[in-house]
Amino acid sequence: MVELKEDPVSKCVFCGIIGKKLKATFIHEDPRAVAFKDVNPKAPTHVLVVPRRHLASLSQATESDEGLLGHLQLLAANLARQLGIDSGFRLVANNGRGAGQTVDHLHYHLLGGRPMQWPPG
Ligand code: AMP
Ligand code: ZN
Repeated sequence: MVELKEDPVSKCVFCGIIGKKLKATFIHEDPRAVAFKDVNPKAPTHVLVVPRRHLASLSQATESDEGLLGHLQLLAANLARQLGIDSGFRLVANNGRGAGQTVDHLHYHLLGGRPMQWPPG
């Protein structure tokens, strides 16, 4: 008997958004990454910067992802400029349940439009 392996991509909400099976408000699309509005915003501007390729978390990234990770950060900085929050924004990657990661597809939260507290909770 052939056992069916779990397919993380078919169950992944962000893969669903990237594949346009689920709705989202896109801010940016390019061949490697997308950015869309967070459905439950924690700041006046709250955008998720997401690689198209399913990668569960930052911990799963390898040296071969170096270019992609750089792309995501530069994209976030460009979007911050475009969205008018570059005088003060925060870029956050929650990694693992203990840090509050709820969607297992790597993403950076781009937050701005209000004063940010430090340290974060
Ligand atoms: P994290 O808890 O760091 O994994 O962040 C996941 C984020 O995804 C949360 O801020 C959610 O509000 C957001 N989110 C979950 N589902 C959707 C969706 N369908 N569209 C947009 N954002 C979503
Ligand atoms: Zn995914």
